[in-house]
Amino acid sequence: MGSGGLRIAVGGIEHETNTYATESMGTTGLDDFQRLEGELIHRAKGTRTFLGGFLDAAEAAGHEVVPTFWALAGPSGIIEADAYETMRTELVERLTSAHADESLDGIALSMHGAGVVEGIDDLESDLARAVRASVGDVPLVVPLDLHGNITPAMGDAIDVMLGVHEYPHTDSYDRGVEAIELLPALAERRLRPVTHVTQIPILLPTSTTDEGPAAAMRDRCLAAELDPAVIDATFFHGFPYTDVAATGTSIVVTTNGDRALARRVADELALSLWDERSSFLTESLRPDVAMDVAIRSLTDVGGPVVVNDTSDNPGGGTPGDGTHLLRAMVDAAVDGSCFGFVFDPVVAAQANEAGVGATIDVRLGGRHGDLHGEPVEATAYVKTLTDGRFVYENEMLAGVRANYGPCARLVLNADRRGAGGIDVIVTSRRSQTFDPVVFALHGIDVSTRSIVGLKSSQHYRAGFRDLATAFVTADSPGLTTLDVTVFDHPSAAGPLWPIDPHLEWAPSPDD
Ligand SMILES: [Zn+2]
Repeated sequence: MGSGGLRIAVGGIEHETNTYATESMGTTGLDDFQRLEGELIHRAKGTRTFLGGFLDAAEAAGHEVVPTFWALAGPSGIIEADAYETMRTELVERLTSAHADESLDGIALSMHGAGVVEGIDDLESDLARAVRASVGDVPLVVPLDLHGNITPAMGDAIDVMLGVHEYPHTDSYDRGVEAIELLPALAERRLRPVTHVTQIPILLPTSTTDEGPAAAMRDRCLAAELDPAVIDATFFHGFPYTDVAATGTSIVVTTNGDRALARRVADELALSLWDERSSFLTESLRPDVAMDVAIRSLTDVGGPVVVNDTSDNPGGGTPGDGTHLLRAMVDAAVDGSCFGFVFDPVVAAQANEAGVGATIDVRLGGRHGDLHGEPVEATAYVKTLTDGRFVYENEMLAGVRANYGPCARLVLNADRRGAGGIDVIVTSRRSQTFDPVVFALHGIDVSTRSIVGLKSSQHYRAGFRDLATAFVTADSPGLTTLDVTVFDHPSAAGPLWPIDPHLEWAPSPDD
């Protein structure tokens, strides 16, 4: 044990569940999770993640870290019940045995807030209750993604929930650090946290905090935290692409022992959000229209102009092989444009088999039903083949290792020497695009390009904001469309705005 430090267990289970993705893409099983057991958790050291923050802060303070079990899967369909049970058992058993060896002073678990398991609508409170049932009243701190659909049950089971404030989530590491830094006061009972969750029946389209109304709400929360009695105040955007009772936005406020204050601050922030809800709605541009806007911007201010495919954002659980924007880019055929990337292991394998310099006929993408577009048929010059491995450099994920499997840079509709045409990167693993490193891996310097297409809703901003001249969002039909009204919510606790545009709402009065 470090000098004067605490004995702190770390671990977690993180998943953002898109229940609408289950039908076309299947359930999420054990093998879909990256799992780190015991000492392997230290691999997260040096990354800008919740776990990276836990490890650095604990080491800096001289705490003893007890690594337990941590698992994360990319956003996808509902988690299979037996997969979750296996992971929960692993985590709880490791915590129980660590606590039996020598009492734990605190537990820090990374979670998302929008985890859904077959038969369990609220992974986070289920997991927290299971931990409580086995280790008792050990302080439990949990950083969460602001896309969590937060429930009062989570607030009851967890001592302090710390949501990220930024979207792109550039402060995950900081919330991890903050979680650890709260533990001494919690262990000594100097802090007696009480949490109020005000749920607001809003389905919020993805909204960056780089600007606009989400930035204003973030600032109001940070201002509320200036009160020394307020431990945390977070605006949870919620995850609209899941159908559970708690789907929607929320304000979560934790104070030191003052329940009335927690409720008052949360309700005030919630009312300000409700009053400004209309400002979160944005106009959706069809991909061909988005390309027209991008071309005008390119003419006016130069490139690179980034066009993001928001409705096929694998970071929200979509297939990642949608073709609506890709097709619009191919049709526009702007010199120097590129697209990174399409998830298509079949075409990636085909390119690897043919080899660099070959020209192949491809049917690219569109392998998960019609919603995200038909395959793009084209000739493709194989320009570059890679192993798909690199390390992210953007402010949000710096230090995290990426592995997209065998990848290919193809030039669609090029001549026999690969000249002309559109550069498209094809991967064997699904992900959104976070930063330009994946382009660099394939020999593309995006700063010299005209129009750069990519699949992401908002996180790409962290990696591209310093080099792009403009961002244009394309919104076609897709599982993460900005038009949140297209999804049915039979499990919702009540009507949701903007599906019900005339909905009236106010915080429930004190009970
Ligand atoms: Zn998120």
